[in-house]
Amino acid sequence: MDKSKQNHSQVDVSSKQTKYIFVTGGVLSSLGKGIAAASIATLLKNVGLKVSILKADPYINVDPGTMSPLEHGEVFVTDDGAETDLDLGHYERFLDESLSQKNNFTTGRVYSSVIEKERRGDYLGKTIQVIPHIVGEIVERIKKAGEGKDILIVEIGGTVGDIEGLPFLEAIRALRSEVGRKNGMFIHLTLVPYIKVAGELKTKPTQHSVGELRRIGISPDMIICRSEIPLNRELKDKIASSCGVERNSVIESPDLGSIYQVPLSFLKQDILTPIAEVLDLGELKPDMEKWDNLVKRVIAPSDSVTIAFVGKYIDLKESYKSLTESIIHAGANLDARVNIKWCDSEKIDENNVEETLKDVDAVLVAGGFGSRGVLGKMQAIKYARENKIPYLGICLGMQLSMIEFARNVLNLEDADSVEFKEDCKNPIIYLIDSFIDASGKKQLRTHKSPLGGTMRLGSYKCDVLPNSLLSRVYNGVKNIKERHRHRYEANPAFREAFEKNGLIVSGESDGLIEAVELKDHPFFLGVQFHPEFTSRLTNPNPAILGFIKAGIENKNVR
Ligand code: GLN
Repeated sequence: MDKSKQNHSQVDVSSKQTKYIFVTGGVLSSLGKGIAAASIATLLKNVGLKVSILKADPYINVDPGTMSPLEHGEVFVTDDGAETDLDLGHYERFLDESLSQKNNFTTGRVYSSVIEKERRGDYLGKTIQVIPHIVGEIVERIKKAGEGKDILIVEIGGTVGDIEGLPFLEAIRALRSEVGRKNGMFIHLTLVPYIKVAGELKTKPTQHSVGELRRIGISPDMIICRSEIPLNRELKDKIASSCGVERNSVIESPDLGSIYQVPLSFLKQDILTPIAEVLDLGELKPDMEKWDNLVKRVIAPSDSVTIAFVGKYIDLKESYKSLTESIIHAGANLDARVNIKWCDSEKIDENNVEETLKDVDAVLVAGGFGSRGVLGKMQAIKYARENKIPYLGICLGMQLSMIEFARNVLNLEDADSVEFKEDCKNPIIYLIDSFIDASGKKQLRTHKSPLGGTMRLGSYKCDVLPNSLLSRVYNGVKNIKERHRHRYEANPAFREAFEKNGLIVSGESDGLIEAVELKDHPFFLGVQFHPEFTSRLTNPNPAILGFIKAGIENKNVR
């Protein structure tokens, strides 16, 4: 074998064409295409290659920002303030890299820019069509996301056969033709269902799905089979021959205890060998030792802790994806299983709060919008404050900790957020960009509508008060950067009263209150930002880590 191909560090693809791995899905959605794509990206990154990842979503919304959590799970926010698909969160958590606007786009986004160009006259009077204009725009966006990378993984949202997915599939077909076989690879993820009555795994849906792809002109180079149970050799060979892929290119992806096991499971099946063969990458040996050690602690940690997760979407756990994953990261890094006691904030009241929270080691109140469930959240906060139970309030969780304090410690009558009561007497949480117009009516300048495009989004710097809990949690650094997604702000008019009574401001960003904490409490922290968005398995977020650690300490003294 060529010596230069034996060591990955000698594979120099950086000055060459970006290589693309296109991941499509078949049979049905929710099979974990994003996890599969992120897992392959992680392995390639740990080989030493420069890897990035892109999610192209065929739906028409310009971005998922205004989609209900019922529809779409969590809205993930990038450093540059893009509201993206939750798969981008998985990519960041696996890859330990911050992605941006250009790593996620939708049909809506593609059409808006094509129409904008058409209005500007950029197409010189030509008729604008799906082919070449829409497809061309998709190709350009893919290329842009891959600039400067060795490898770009491109995940196409939805399932083969969806009408709106066609331009995307045409785009990747055309791009692979353009860059050539060694620079483009197709991976198709399908379902191999287990039919209980027959006691058998069935390959027919996979064959149909591959047939559908072929009709569009795409022949997969690899098939990843999602299934409830492992596939035997015979079945893999059957899929290989019926779908026209190499035998070593049928990879199984059975249900596992943790999503973080997926890269290890793929590696065990030697997934990198066929990838390297197709893309001409030489021998690829990833260093997964750190990952492997953390996964062991996810599966079988030595300690455990129980936290109450107080929220209103507890039947919709997908809408708290980043937060629940960040808790797993913290647990893995502390070698503890974090048991979550899901508490529906709408069901908590003065009479049952003690019963609900007496057996937990720490209390978490997550972000949210609207007034539903806020009273229950404030009951939980009061309980944690008075009983010295570690508390972390995120976004709305910080705002409510201030309102609770204003009502019950400062005894301020009608203390509220203008989000819930516009004309409250004491607006603890308010809108900063409001003004009174010429007619004397209150107008909102940047927060015009309750929907899309009006929020404070993305990463902002926050100055940390020295010697505070926030400072201890973030290891003494003077300033931090975290991501935001909110419309309302803490009102500085009440700051003095708060601080005099023990709730101090420990984080500020250009005059805005970013973090508050209680002086006489082992761990009571409210943050306006969302620490969960920057947490990764190999690099957990300090605020979440500090909170879980405080929970463990509380458990040990109780
Ligand atoms: N609804 C609050 C706001 O818009 C909090 C938002 C959140 O928790 N993400 O400011």
